[in-house]
Amino acid sequence: MVLPYLIYVRTCPSCGDGLCRVRVCTHENKLAGCVVCDECESVWTDPTMSEKFTEGIDSYTASCPDCGRSLWEDTSHWADIQEVCLLGWYDKVKVART
Ligand SMILES: [Zn+2]
Ligand SMILES: [Zn+2]
Repeated sequence: MVLPYLIYVRTCPSCGDGLCRVRVCTHENKLAGCVVCDECESVWTDPTMSEKFTEGIDSYTASCPDCGRSLWEDTSHWADIQEVCLLGWYDKVKVART
């Protein structure tokens, strides 16, 4: 799914290169959000980015802090604006048109 806009929190503090973007996992029809760098794939549990998540089921891939599954499976995608609102994170992100 290609969105006409990009939702992000900030430039990645880990790699300095990527954008930390909101990704959602919809495993078991639950909406779980996290923040993922689109470059180095570091994961944070929320937009305050105070807590990194590294304990997924597969340690070599970015994983959902809620269920631990890979964030690149088809149960996950980059959040759209509606989903960011549902997570209550809209005032914590920036939206850029692409
Ligand atoms: Zn990064
Ligand atoms: Zn999940």
